[in-house]
Amino acid sequence: MQSTRRNFALQSAAVAATLALPAAAQPSTSAEGWYDRPMRWAQLAFVEDDPGRYSPSFWLDYFKRIHADAACLSAGGCVAFYPTKIPLHYRSKFLGNSDPFGEMLAGCRKLGMNVIARTDPHAAHQDVYDAHPDWIAVDAAGNKRRHWASPDLWVTCALGPYNFEFMTQVTREIVALYQVDGIFSNRWAGSGMCYCEHCRRNFRDFSGLDLPRTNDPQYPARRQYIVWHQKRLFELWRLWDGTIRAANPNASFIANAGGGALSNLDMKTIGELAPTLFADRQARHGLMPPWMNGKNGKEYRATLGNKAIAGIFSVGLEDEHRWKDSVQHRDEIRLWVADGIAQGLRPWFTKFNAKPIDRRWLPVVEEIYNWHHNNERYLRNEASLARVALVYSQQTAAFYGGEHARENVENAALGFYQALVEARIPFDMVHDKLLDSAHVDRYRTLILPNIAALSTEQCEQIRAFVNRGGSIVATHETSLYDEWGVRRRDFGLASLFGASFDGRVQDHIQNSYLNVERDPLTGQFHPLVHGLEDATRIINGVTRIYVKPQGNYLPPPLTLVPSYPDLPMEEVYPRVPRTNIPGVFLREAGHGRVAYFPWDIDRTFWEVLDVDHGKLLKNAVLWTSNEEPPVTVSGVGVIDISVWQQKTSITAHLVNLTNPMMMKGPVREIIPLPAQQLRLRIPSGKRVAAVRFLVGGVEPQYQISGKVMEILVPSIALHEVIAVDLA
Ligand SMILES: [Zn+2]
Repeated sequence: MQSTRRNFALQSAAVAATLALPAAAQPSTSAEGWYDRPMRWAQLAFVEDDPGRYSPSFWLDYFKRIHADAACLSAGGCVAFYPTKIPLHYRSKFLGNSDPFGEMLAGCRKLGMNVIARTDPHAAHQDVYDAHPDWIAVDAAGNKRRHWASPDLWVTCALGPYNFEFMTQVTREIVALYQVDGIFSNRWAGSGMCYCEHCRRNFRDFSGLDLPRTNDPQYPARRQYIVWHQKRLFELWRLWDGTIRAANPNASFIANAGGGALSNLDMKTIGELAPTLFADRQARHGLMPPWMNGKNGKEYRATLGNKAIAGIFSVGLEDEHRWKDSVQHRDEIRLWVADGIAQGLRPWFTKFNAKPIDRRWLPVVEEIYNWHHNNERYLRNEASLARVALVYSQQTAAFYGGEHARENVENAALGFYQALVEARIPFDMVHDKLLDSAHVDRYRTLILPNIAALSTEQCEQIRAFVNRGGSIVATHETSLYDEWGVRRRDFGLASLFGASFDGRVQDHIQNSYLNVERDPLTGQFHPLVHGLEDATRIINGVTRIYVKPQGNYLPPPLTLVPSYPDLPMEEVYPRVPRTNIPGVFLREAGHGRVAYFPWDIDRTFWEVLDVDHGKLLKNAVLWTSNEEPPVTVSGVGVIDISVWQQKTSITAHLVNLTNPMMMKGPVREIIPLPAQQLRLRIPSGKRVAAVRFLVGGVEPQYQISGKVMEILVPSIALHEVIAVDLA
């Protein structure tokens, strides 16, 4: 199917080349449902002085050499790179009679590439300001906003006529002239709160209220604003999408949007609207771990299912000081991209300025893309085989977290994520609005990392999942708030936890511990504290939920040692060395299992990275899952793991994150891992026809016993993919 489409595309391009049609009349490579075709994207983001000064053949040769099969090219918005006829649509002052957008588009089509056009509506020139001052964004003090980085420009209002009228015209013109496969709009959703006359009036019509001047989501105006802001942006999305489809039925609007709990557009709706989506996380910075790129892939996949998702990476440093013409070390680029590919992202490089200055990145991207092209059939994933899923919740971030969402919501998820990577457990992510059986029954265990805000219906879905044999691990204030962030009298999931809320949350606890306890009946340690048998006690977290037991739970393998003074040193001894207050609630519920930690174990793990907490999180997932995992990898080092199924094969990706720089990029070199022993579960009804290493190239030595294949991976430099052809 795919090769048929590709041949057709190549033939169309060949015909076009023979006829030497003008750019605008070239037949498009678009076909219905083209979105799954491209595997490797190239983005050239023009700067104003590119027209007439850059070399199209340099780029087209490069695109061909790297087997890029789709391109995103800058067309219009802030600056037009084609001869637009729309009044106030600013043309590059270097444009003259040229059409660099059309020229590159025609060249890409000759290569059989899909092409989408980039627009950027977030900034406008002085003539726009003069003609339509109401199109400009207004700050809380009532001033029109100059652009923070380019003070000659103005920041536009995303929710008023600039986008709804002017940019709709621009969008229509680009699609009508060039029959592009889609419009990708950057910074289309605004640049913070806008208090312009349109926003004030439209919000008042919607809510009867004035625009909020607080970020606290418990104030009615802020709560209503969060709802209205999304509604308005989705109206814009649908308007542009309809405009595009009217001009080319095979094209769509593809917003630069989406993300995890902290993103502000509902991912469930995005998953329904977008035919494909691109995760714009160009590189890491600061203390961001390299697995963060894979996390983007998981968050998008949670609501886009099997739709194609590309991961946009830049080749430069992505630091707040924004050296946009910089080039990173090759190993940092390779590490970031490899983790995205391992978690299902198709690579998309972006380069601003078509006249590259530092060219060291070119061979790096070429190497990555050529490997990807050579192994494409093992990278067209049809399903993840992970049996564990980490839930994320935008409503928890918006309405419970508010201004503290990063600390109180996202950091819990990051802590659990890190623990799962260290534990070498492959996992997916699940959106909290998709907890129905169709979306969660493929998993054995759902993890709820302080998913505090859940509706009654969502709690019912989680209970039903456990009733059907699923297991859960939950932490901290999970289900203690409703979907609007209003605290309940008790956990929505109290009956599952075996614990009820006792009315009090204690935070900023210093110097508190947990005793590691044997089962009083058997004298044995519970598997939850495996690896901690000799510890006697371990550190506690820093926020504790007071709970009272409800119903049955297993004898707690952890009990509380309350806080005691940490200074002066003479005072540092436990006043209460032992209590019977559980540090974890463990239950067997039907065929499923439940582990609930009434404290911030995952958030504390992200802050402190205490190895004991990492062990508890790992053990909780293994004990609740209670089955042979789809893949087990033994050996030393930190590896991000995924397992995928393709049409006639399965693959296990191992990305080597072991690096002295792994917690603060950029890395300078890759430190190869020693041998790893891998156990891979063979899907039932299938047999192994062939096994290949897609990176290392050596002949794999493997054994099959029953449903499990054992294979020795001799060494991993950066990334290894074990590809198993099935018959
Ligand atoms: Zn506005």
